Amino acid sequence: MIAILFGPPGAGKGTQATLLARHFGVAHVSTGAMFRAEIEAQTMLGHEVAPILASGALVPDELTVRILESRMDHKDAAGGAVLDGFPRTVAQAQALDRMLAQQARELTVVINVNVPDEVLLNRILKRAADEGRTDDNREAFAKRISVYRQQTEPVLDYYKQARTGVEDVDGVGSIEEVNSRILAAVESANGQRV
Ligand code: ADP
Repeated sequence: MIAILFGPPGAGKGTQATLLARHFGVAHVSTGAMFRAEIEAQTMLGHEVAPILASGALVPDELTVRILESRMDHKDAAGGAVLDGFPRTVAQAQALDRMLAQQARELTVVINVNVPDEVLLNRILKRAADEGRTDDNREAFAKRISVYRQQTEPVLDYYKQARTGVEDVDGVGSIEEVNSRILAAVESANGQRV
């Protein structure tokens, strides 16, 4: 299974992707978490992307695709993956298509987690207090939302046109509620193939 968990910043993709990956026994692949790990480890890549993440802008596609491809080559992703925060641009979606085609794999489903903007901001500000992420502040959040609307939302149309199932899920509710909705959506898209 290769599922994409799609949604705006603060929609709870990370939490839900962890649960979904565990449920299906597949890898949880988060480009954001990978970038944060590089920053933490003070690698060259980390130094390059730190200011980009802090501002709320997107890391260039080429770098992002490269890190995603190397992650998908790990053994644990051979059986499947939940992609969290990737693809975020149409160019990234096209690169993913090419990669999967080369490996004779198919995308299973795109889960679109819907959450209203005011709920997103509240969650982000709360997370700022809990986790101290450099991009969880009002300014970076405004940037992330506008980047999401302009560059990431078109990815949904890309998948709708490609006839990959896009399943809309209501992301407001408890972690367990949203998790059950997502599981139901994956099963309805993919009952035969998981
Ligand atoms: P959120 O979904 O809350 O914004 P993420 O951890 O997915 O959190 O992403 C944090 C930041 O990491 C993004 O704002 C961006 O700077 C960078 N990033 C993550 N994934 C990508 C991607 N696919 N393409 C470009 N930049 C990315």
